[in-house]
Amino acid sequence: MIRPPLPADEHQRQATLDAYRILDTPREAAYDDLVMIAAAICDVPMAVITLIDHDRQWFKSAHGVEGSETPRDIAFCAHAILDPSETMIVTDARTDPRFSGNPMVTGGPHVRFYAGAPMRATDGQPMGTFCVIDDRPRELEPAQRSALEALSRQASRLMELHRVSQELRLQLDERAWYEEQLLHYQQELEHENADLAEQSSTDPLTGLANRRAFSRTLDQAISQAQALGTPLSVAIVDIDHFKSINDLHGHAEGDRVLQSLGAMLLSTEAARGRVARFGGEEFVRLLPDRALADAARESEYLREAVAAMPTGLPVTISIGVAALHAGEDASSLLARADQALYQAKREGRDRVCALP
Ligand code: GH3
Ligand code: MG
Ligand code: MG
Repeated sequence: MIRPPLPADEHQRQATLDAYRILDTPREAAYDDLVMIAAAICDVPMAVITLIDHDRQWFKSAHGVEGSETPRDIAFCAHAILDPSETMIVTDARTDPRFSGNPMVTGGPHVRFYAGAPMRATDGQPMGTFCVIDDRPRELEPAQRSALEALSRQASRLMELHRVSQELRLQLDERAWYEEQLLHYQQELEHENADLAEQSSTDPLTGLANRRAFSRTLDQAISQAQALGTPLSVAIVDIDHFKSINDLHGHAEGDRVLQSLGAMLLSTEAARGRVARFGGEEFVRLLPDRALADAARESEYLREAVAAMPTGLPVTISIGVAALHAGEDASSLLARADQALYQAKREGRDRVCALP
């Protein structure tokens, strides 16, 4: 017996075969049908589609043969692939020095006749053979040989189909993975955007709404009040002599006073966005459903509460209050509240002034 040598470009051949991902896949009727047809046409008891792997031949389909693989050393097909352009025919294995001592010849299944048509990949590399085997010496009719070669090409096409569909499936899996990643990034972006939106509507020092956010809230409240014919007031709150607090106690202390006043204002309003830092040491408060007198009274409570705030410093505020006139817009309402505040300052600070 002569062991089959390796093809010169065995490395490439094996890589080509591996790319088909067909080794050790389950039996499939499409291949079994071809093998059965080959056995019938060639009138043999055995027919096999065999693939030559590293050190074994593996049967994709076998008719009349036991098992699913044999060692490569004793594989007839390992000889057949050495010339992929030719069908290898052994009429009597006992008289062929390559096979005379082969255990498949000396023992079961007692191979005598073998014809193997190499199955080639699209790059021309032989992956294995489509072979027919008999336990008596014989030959193939030319038509039978042509049929065997045609069946070998059919099996190669089936494998090509398998390779392409595997590749497509992998690409789809990869695409699904990418889509999942994209979705993940998109969600992260949305979170970040939500954070940014929050930041751009919030004053970082006090955590209150900023002027921008307040002006949206005010516009909505005005539209609603005008639609329903309900009252609405605003109060602008300004810390008295705040510059002196900074000058006497430092900016950090000034910041703490701003934060305390912010917290105090927030505690007066359950609804978010109704109090805001208007800028510097000025705050604004929206008083929906309050006519001027009610708004002024509530502002007075606030002024008293601030004066009693335990900041360790004498902090007082002045407040200007204005109630919405029919057909008035936000800027006019705020301008009148500002006017009221100016008046409170002029009259001596630490007081509430309400302009009708
Ligand atoms: P008035 O009673 O007339 O309101 O006097 P005032 O000193 O409060 O008003 P003025 O407008 O003269 O000064 C406001 C000061 O507020 C000036 C500014 O340095 C200070 N200020 C504005 N924003 C901040 C801030 O975020 N932190 C601190 N610590 N001070 C601020
Ligand atoms: Mg001011
Ligand atoms: Mg001030």
